Amino acid sequence: MQPSNSPLTITPVPCLQDNYAYLIEHTSGDAWVVDPSEAAPVLAILAQRRLRLRGIIATHHHHDHVGGIAGLVAASDDPQLWVAAHAHDSGRIPCLTRPIAAPLGAFTPTKGASQDGRGVELAGVELWAMWIPGHTDGAIAWMIPGPDGGDVFTGDTLFAAGCGRLFEGTPAQMYSSLRALAALAPATRLWFGHEYTAGNLRFAAVIEPDNSLEITRAAAELPAITTPTTVARERALNPFVRAASLEEFAARRAAKDTFRG
Ligand code: ZN
Ligand code: FE
Repeated sequence: MQPSNSPLTITPVPCLQDNYAYLIEHTSGDAWVVDPSEAAPVLAILAQRRLRLRGIIATHHHHDHVGGIAGLVAASDDPQLWVAAHAHDSGRIPCLTRPIAAPLGAFTPTKGASQDGRGVELAGVELWAMWIPGHTDGAIAWMIPGPDGGDVFTGDTLFAAGCGRLFEGTPAQMYSSLRALAALAPATRLWFGHEYTAGNLRFAAVIEPDNSLEITRAAAELPAITTPTTVARERALNPFVRAASLEEFAARRAAKDTFRG
């Protein structure tokens, strides 16, 4: 699933009921984790693959994305182990050491978005970040840039065929955040926070009957683990990305909140 020239490999780590943490590993044996809901499954895969944890990356402050951070930090003997999140979430991300003030609208290199200029690097590969409020005020998307668009961690903002609930943000913020993600290169891989895809497709078929052929086809071919999706796939299937206006987006988001399918 990775471009063959990338030194970094991404593996989904199922956590809790339906969460995904993501292990990023480098051929050197260094590793990083995105959104560790729990420490135990992450520690298990680190031990099994004999990897050294170098950094922890959070997409937002909700417990099912950061609940494992303190345990991972406590289990590490590396004083350099860093924890990165949006600067806006300072005070609500455990052990945060790399607050990144990523801007709205476009991905930016993390070095330019951090006060001390350190940014966030994975074995020399600089992460890029974009602020994507809507689900929460401090939601952030992280990108490992690549020639085909790269890999982006979307947390609970964009799911395959869905989007997160509006806990702290407005429909306008969420709609802009989704549109910024959907404007990325078509082959960009999107790694999301929850395995909600089957239910999201059931909602998509109801809210966008005109697109039901495409949706039915996708639903028939779902593997057990549906992450990552791609920008092209979300443009074709995701009713929130496909909403033609803010009003349509807001109506769809409200309908999803009460959908029982
Ligand atoms: Zn969340
Ligand atoms: Fe979540």
